[in-house]
Amino acid sequence: MANSSKKQKPLTLRVAPLRITLIYLLVGGLWIIFSDRLVAAIVTDPIALTQLQTYKGWFYIVATALLLYLLIRHSLAVLSNSEAELRAISAELQAALQRLTFHVENSPLGVIEWDNHFRVQRWSRQSEQLFGWKAEEVLGKHPNEIGFIYAEDAEAVNRVIVALLEGNRSRSVNRNRNYTKSGAVIDCEWYESAFFDETGRLISILSLVQDVTAREQAKQALQESEERFRATFEQAAVGLAHLGLDNRWLWVNQKFCDIIGYSFEELGQLSLPQLIYPDDLDINREQARRLVAGEIQTYSLEQRYIRKDSSPVWVNVTVSLLRDASGQPKYFIGVVQDITERKQLEEQYRHAQKMEAVGRLAGGVAHDFNNLLTVINGYSELALHGLTELDPLQKSIREIRKAGERAARLTHQLLAFSRQQVLQPEILDLNEVITDISRMLTRLIGEDIELVIITKAGLGRIKADPGQMEQVIMNLAINARDAMPHGGKLTIDLANVELDEDFARRHLRVAPGSYVRLAISDTGVGMDKETLNRIFEPFFTTKEQGKGTGLGLATVYGIVNQSGGSILVYSEPGWGTTFKIYLPQIKEVSKSSPVSLPQEHPSQRGGTILLVEDEPGVRNLVRDTLKEDGYTVLDASNSAEALLLSEQHPDPIHLLLTDVVMPGLSGRQLAEHLLLQRPKLRILYMSGYTDDAIVHHGVLEPGVAFLHKPFTLQILTRKVREVLDGIT
Ligand code: ADP
Ligand code: MG
Repeated sequence: MANSSKKQKPLTLRVAPLRITLIYLLVGGLWIIFSDRLVAAIVTDPIALTQLQTYKGWFYIVATALLLYLLIRHSLAVLSNSEAELRAISAELQAALQRLTFHVENSPLGVIEWDNHFRVQRWSRQSEQLFGWKAEEVLGKHPNEIGFIYAEDAEAVNRVIVALLEGNRSRSVNRNRNYTKSGAVIDCEWYESAFFDETGRLISILSLVQDVTAREQAKQALQESEERFRATFEQAAVGLAHLGLDNRWLWVNQKFCDIIGYSFEELGQLSLPQLIYPDDLDINREQARRLVAGEIQTYSLEQRYIRKDSSPVWVNVTVSLLRDASGQPKYFIGVVQDITERKQLEEQYRHAQKMEAVGRLAGGVAHDFNNLLTVINGYSELALHGLTELDPLQKSIREIRKAGERAARLTHQLLAFSRQQVLQPEILDLNEVITDISRMLTRLIGEDIELVIITKAGLGRIKADPGQMEQVIMNLAINARDAMPHGGKLTIDLANVELDEDFARRHLRVAPGSYVRLAISDTGVGMDKETLNRIFEPFFTTKEQGKGTGLGLATVYGIVNQSGGSILVYSEPGWGTTFKIYLPQIKEVSKSSPVSLPQEHPSQRGGTILLVEDEPGVRNLVRDTLKEDGYTVLDASNSAEALLLSEQHPDPIHLLLTDVVMPGLSGRQLAEHLLLQRPKLRILYMSGYTDDAIVHHGVLEPGVAFLHKPFTLQILTRKVREVLDGIT
């Protein structure tokens, strides 16, 4: 490239001729003046003078010619020198320009040069490819004339253009959308620089432009997938965790934090083994080892974690292992599901099933015993009638009867537990039930225990057997008393409650809705978990021999369940116990009309009774008793026999007294048959347990007369009279 000294050469050449000419004029003039004077002073001879002057003239010509020659030669040399240099420079420039042009045209970026009115000066090949317009189509045009700025971005782009043109900005980087000639929209990234001359005038602007559509799309796709993943991770209904091979947490989602009660920050201080219930540690380690060793791909465990508040939480954990491309393990991925509720429900379900099985067993036993006890007690009674006060057998038979009655109470409790006793529900206000028995309760619990009864105005009504409800309260009060040998406080509290879906879901046997809650709390010794698990089982007692029967809560359980309610117990050793009983509220509040039972003996006696009973002991007893009472008794051991008897008996039959469950036709079916022939016939059922033939879910159908086995002979005769007299 030409440097500054060479650049000044033409200037030297331009100035020299004038100077040379002036010097020549000066030197020549001086020479002529002084040489003439000198020669005139030395030579006086005119001829010689003329001659000398001629020589002098020649000398001058020769000298100046020589000088001229040297000068021209020098000048020519200089000229040819600089011409070669110029050529070299020009070639160099040419090459540089070529290189530049090549780069501009071949740059992967589109190159566009704009003049100081932002009109296209240069439009590289890449620009042609990018936008589709040929250089000749756009040269001299403003971007707006070309029409390649995306409408929505036009304002922003024009601001940039103005800033560049006005010299407010000498460079700029920006991104906007452009149209191509075919109308497609592409994302472009623009790099601009403005060139100003020394006076600050804008000469041109260079733009480099790149199509970033694919990059933008990829970026957006990545961002979207990242967002999707994050949302999935964060909003997942299961706990998710990434666990390093060193058992440290890399990442967990919110649900995971919710399950274990620690925040992600707090987890930083904890390794996995600190979270796992100690019993479950070994199996976890072993499974993780097998996973890392590649023996298994994934494993699932049901186990307990220890929450921040130290409570255990049951979880189902499924773990897999992430490996890098070379197969090296990177981290564990855990999916954690809170199954505490399921576990609790399973536990409740198992418990309910156990109670069901025990209940069936107890009910079956009680049923058979009822028949036996009816016989034992009945004949004891008959025997006693036949003996004088002084008879030595009196005492023995009395003992038999007493034992029989105790046994009858026991079977009754068992029936209650197995939900097979016959309830006679009424619409009840529990406030009244409790107020009625409060005096008895006070006496029952003794002076050391304070009794607090909180009744509730506007309490919802329930449908239950009042005698049974009293039984429930008494049993619970007695247990509370036993739990407070040194005194304390017994609180009975009534309230209306709404049980929601959530509550219903967590407790078996409860449907959402309005309930009356009866809470009985004591400040006694409380119970541990093992005791709590078993309290409703019949014959489960922690009391010493002779003190407890273990039937109190079993009875409560049976009665409450049979009444459509549910019981929850809260207790902790040393902290007392609360039983909460939920009974469904009923909507219709009709006046209950208690049937007043006549206490006096029936006035009118006699009549014909058809007795049907498959158990001979009971049949004989009943027959004998009724005969003794003055009735005519036709007895049959099954329905077929009874139908035959009825056919053969032309006279009226006043009462059918029948067992319910018998081989062949049931008591109910028999009654229906007989009623067709004898519409005036009255019916009295007797049974040891409930049966859907006459009761629905243990509740007697209205208008059905029923005698519960075992019955005393007094009750038998009274009931028979009542039915015959049309009282029941
Ligand atoms: P029993 O009272 O004859 O033992 P229950 O069925 O009434 O039988 O009660 C069973 C057991 O439940 C009791 O032996 C006692 O261990 C426990 N229990 C019941 N109620 C309470 C209470 N309020 N406080 C402490 N323990 C109780
Ligand atoms: Mg008890």
